[in-house]
Amino acid sequence: MQVRSLPVLQNWDCHSCGDCCRSYAVPVTADERRRIEGQGWEALPEFQGIPFFVRRGSEFYLNHRADGSCVFLGADNLCRIHGKFGSAAKPLACRIYPFLLVPAGDHWNLGLRLACPSAAENKGRALSEQLSDAREFAAFFESTTAKEKLAAPPPPLQGSQTVPWGDVARIAAAVSRLLANEAEPFERRWRKVLFVVSMLRKAKFDGGGDPKKVVTAGRLSELLHVLGEAAHDEEPKTAAEVPIPGWVGRTIFRQLAAVYARKDHGAEKGTAQRGPIGRIWSAVKFAAGRGRVPKLHAALPDSATFSATEVPLGSLGDNAVSLLSRWHRLKVESLQFCGSPNFGLGVWEGLESLALTFPAAMWLARVLVVDGRSPDAAVMQAVRMVDDNFGFNPLLGSTRQKFALRMLANRGELPRLIAWYGR
Ligand code: SF4
Repeated sequence: MQVRSLPVLQNWDCHSCGDCCRSYAVPVTADERRRIEGQGWEALPEFQGIPFFVRRGSEFYLNHRADGSCVFLGADNLCRIHGKFGSAAKPLACRIYPFLLVPAGDHWNLGLRLACPSAAENKGRALSEQLSDAREFAAFFESTTAKEKLAAPPPPLQGSQTVPWGDVARIAAAVSRLLANEAEPFERRWRKVLFVVSMLRKAKFDGGGDPKKVVTAGRLSELLHVLGEAAHDEEPKTAAEVPIPGWVGRTIFRQLAAVYARKDHGAEKGTAQRGPIGRIWSAVKFAAGRGRVPKLHAALPDSATFSATEVPLGSLGDNAVSLLSRWHRLKVESLQFCGSPNFGLGVWEGLESLALTFPAAMWLARVLVVDGRSPDAAVMQAVRMVDDNFGFNPLLGSTRQKFALRMLANRGELPRLIAWYGR
């Protein structure tokens, strides 16, 4: 299938910071294990007594050293397998990171993980110039994935309500346009999107049995346009005009923020959640929302308090706003926000789950400024932490988290959280 880059302008090149080699548990297939075992590393003194892989259940992963780095990361911060045998000799998961290939009907969308610092900083060549690498990865997936999976139907809008892939792309393009509107504060852009989503949730796309009322492609474009205009009139102009989130909403939201803040492996592993008692203690602290914020990630300062997370962060610089806009437009345009890349969520729920990553990142940024970072630098770090989890942390796909998302949406808390933490 064709690989398409996205309209949003995003750059990336690897700058060999080694961050990903210290952060992730990298899965390896049986073929990759055999290939690496045949590369002769066991003859080197630094590999004596060091297994290349660790087993978890039926899966194998690259082993890490005590400092959290991959066993194959050299002192020069470069991959030794890549250095000696070339990129193709590495496990596919290492080669493809931070690209994302999202199946979208008859093509793949090329997305990106902003957990990588070079991606978050927009450093390197335009993604549109990197399609040949992406095509190679896509060809690999096509040769190893069952045809039925590749030809999967579009994600439903909600429940069993479906529309063709083209309409899902139309919805994504309209949302991306709202998120790109530089005339609005970023938090209001998301409130407008949620207004449109709440209206479309009530629409009967199949016409309710009347063929004349079926929402065709042309009608959908018109409807999206009209709802975007209505959102402009209906949504309060400033965050201060939006009611503040309720106690229940904030309590549920903090549990979600804890999931996004938490790093359980690698060099950035937090210290608060060590052992079952540490995990329970951290969960209790996040539920209570008082005292110090548990250090769930190495980047979190020791002295941040929950009360600091309720204080406005202040106005953000252009770089931080443009990062937030690029980040969310990438997730929307690539369709990573719904379907299989986001734990099977439908289009509307997927957009709501993505909307919540904005207050989650802003909440984390408030914690991160405590150690002297500028608000813009804190937002950059927070976006990387949240994006590290979005669509990947299995906790976010749990029934409990899906229920929490539903509760926040049903109680009308989503726009309130966005306005409150977007200040
Ligand atoms: S985190 Fe990004 S820039 Fe750093 S080594 Fe990995 S891919 Fe390269």
